[in-house]
Amino acid sequence: MIDQINIPQYFLRRNPNMTCRHNNKSAASFTAQCRAVILLIALAFLLSGCSSIPFLSGTAASSGSSGSSQGTASSTATSDFFAMDTFMTITANGTDAQAAVNAAQAEVYRLENELSRNLPASSVSKINAQSGLGPVTVPQETFDIISDAVAYAEKTSGAFDITIAPIMDIWGFNDGNFRVPAASEIQAALVFVNWQKIKLDKANLTVELPVKGMELDLGGIAKGYSSDKVQKVMHGFNITSALISLGGNVAVFGTKADGSLWKIAITDPQALDSYIGILTATDVSVITSGGYERNFTKDGITYIHIMDPATGSPVQSDLLSVSIVSPDGVQGDSLSTALFVMGKDKAIAYWQAHKDFACILVTKTGEVFASAELKNTFTLTNAKGSLTFFE
Ligand code: ADP
Ligand code: MG
Repeated sequence: MIDQINIPQYFLRRNPNMTCRHNNKSAASFTAQCRAVILLIALAFLLSGCSSIPFLSGTAASSGSSGSSQGTASSTATSDFFAMDTFMTITANGTDAQAAVNAAQAEVYRLENELSRNLPASSVSKINAQSGLGPVTVPQETFDIISDAVAYAEKTSGAFDITIAPIMDIWGFNDGNFRVPAASEIQAALVFVNWQKIKLDKANLTVELPVKGMELDLGGIAKGYSSDKVQKVMHGFNITSALISLGGNVAVFGTKADGSLWKIAITDPQALDSYIGILTATDVSVITSGGYERNFTKDGITYIHIMDPATGSPVQSDLLSVSIVSPDGVQGDSLSTALFVMGKDKAIAYWQAHKDFACILVTKTGEVFASAELKNTFTLTNAKGSLTFFE
């Protein structure tokens, strides 16, 4: 039995009047750009087998929430809304379900107001407006997110780079006016792309972009951070479980009323209303980057919203999607983008060098590669597909 399927375009059909908080975009234009991300399925089904990492262990883990709802009326509350340029669904179970969902939604809006480069009052907009002019003081939280983004840039040798903004702009991914820029325009914009130039002053909580024209875009990390923060907020309520879907970023905690774990389906990038496999887990984020999420096609070539900072162009890799499975949403979001940029072989090599997360890679040829610790928790549902676990 499927309890929930979260497919953005289905949601839009039910909600044709929903609008985006950004004034330059609408839900309708978003639909054209953004395809289905992930199907979330919560099935009454217990995990069999076990794995070496705790969040994939064989028994139903405790949710860490503030107590049992036994003896009190327990309920389920869900909120569907649009924020951070994507559709979000947050569901909670427990006596405080509605209050928890309301607080979660408010937290997403708060973070969007702080981290969006399209809202002029955000810290990111202030940093960008001051580029070449001097440092900007930001809240501790924002300083920490930018510091984490820089750390992942370093770890991934620049495959993840939040100074990618000027490149997003020239391809039209920020305002929706898609176009293929001339090579000279790409070279001119690339001058401003270099995470190593970001100046961070920990003592004074300032961020500085020293070259006029540099700009930050936290689109590759903000939803992962938000997913972590939303979970923290929800843990303050009396709920037993929750499912948080911020676009392609899914986080689950606790177990369902019957004690069963969550089942998270990974979208088939080549058949967006279908899925390639199911992961059974709890207390974990499953964060996917895929070229199918936002793209445009010109002269038969499809250009996606994930950029290769080395070339200044949309990534042309052998991958169609990368899903990172980790309790850390910031790690999941930054690495899903970075491993997508790297392509299959380098992505596997990165996992082999770190092994502090799990991942599922879907290639253009339809093959699925998953890291070994998912052996007992990830199963292929597409009979035609091939699945290889790598060590
Ligand atoms: P989504 O936001 O659709 O879930 P990602 O997490 O992969 O997908 O993030 C893509 C977003 O990240 C882009 O829309 C852009 O804002 C930003 N971005 C694009 N390329 C890069 C990159 N190489 N490094 C860091 N951020 C990137
Ligand atoms: Mg990402």
